[in-house]
Amino acid sequence: MRSSLPILLALALLVLTACGSNPSNRNKEASPMSITPRPFGKTADGQDVTEFTLKNAGITAKVINYGALLTELHVPDKSGKTADVVLGFDNVKQYETESPYFGCTTGRVANRIAKGKFTLDGKEYTLATNNAPNHLHGGAVGFNKKLWKATPVAGKDGPAVKFAYRSPDGEEGYPGNLDVEVTYTLTNDAELRIDYKATTDKATPINLTHHTYFNLAGQGNGTILNHELQVNADNYTPVDATMIPTGAIAKVEATPFDFRKPAKVGGRIAQLPGDAATKDPGGYDLNYVLNSQIGKLAQAAVLRDPSSGRVMEIWTDEPGIQFYTGNFLDGTLTGKGGKVYQKNFGLCLETQHYPDAINQPKFPSTVLKPGETYTQTCTHKFYAK
Ligand code: BGC
Repeated sequence: MRSSLPILLALALLVLTACGSNPSNRNKEASPMSITPRPFGKTADGQDVTEFTLKNAGITAKVINYGALLTELHVPDKSGKTADVVLGFDNVKQYETESPYFGCTTGRVANRIAKGKFTLDGKEYTLATNNAPNHLHGGAVGFNKKLWKATPVAGKDGPAVKFAYRSPDGEEGYPGNLDVEVTYTLTNDAELRIDYKATTDKATPINLTHHTYFNLAGQGNGTILNHELQVNADNYTPVDATMIPTGAIAKVEATPFDFRKPAKVGGRIAQLPGDAATKDPGGYDLNYVLNSQIGKLAQAAVLRDPSSGRVMEIWTDEPGIQFYTGNFLDGTLTGKGGKVYQKNFGLCLETQHYPDAINQPKFPSTVLKPGETYTQTCTHKFYAK
């Protein structure tokens, strides 16, 4: 990154006019499209971190090459007033030392792998058990803690930044050199789109996701309990006391997990009180089995904040979505602008394959083999009403 910074700064003046071909997007025609890099700070071992500001269609997104993560997302409300709708920090150090995966790219395998063990092609692999007794979000030093190579791209759909990372064979215990690309595009249609691609030279499990904590009322601005959520899932994957799926696919009907029709996030959350004995703080933390077909981009969820009118639709070609209501936030983290993050101050909707799929023969496979290409697209579409 250090050597490419001058080139990136030259790109700072890359200002294009927004795509004017769609007459329904008249307000967007007026807003310029741009990619602006700036130094964000240094990692503890002295490496430069660069932040890229993407602007398009009235939205501003900021991403950094540490963790290939989203630091800010400014979206207009129903009166046109923008607010930053994602939780995060304004310095590298907090991302390195205290982040509960704010805004990051999570991998090599997002979510849990039971007891950090799996067998592939007859060989048993052992991974870090960083969420005792299980492996969580790629291990002790997951993709969220790596410095990625960043390339700004003035794509036809809008300004974009492509992040690339080679995860070496044996990293965190996983087999194979894995080449990963994650591209954030702020589209002409007011969407933040994330495209993933990966190839490997040995069979390996892979399950990438994006781990932003959203609060459509603005980050640090209260809980998400009044947000309305709709999830296009008739089923979910029940888990044991350590959050590992039992293997069953259960109906959401007649449970507090039923969001087939829009419902308040906080409406039934008291029915999920948690358990002090297992350090479960209570709240939503489950994987939905989406009704859509794997590989076909379809709407997975719609989130709306009634106070601001901001709406976010999530579209994915993945089979699952993890819904997590920031249950472990407890007021000990101070985020951007000095905002203190209390329980339920943000929620995650993480498009992915099901947890522990590598050990669950009935779940869609997460194995990537040499010669194959892993792809995933997740779109966050914003408007206000
Ligand atoms: C998981 C939670 C976990 C959180 C950590 C979520 O993806 O579902 O169980 O505590 O990540 O930030």
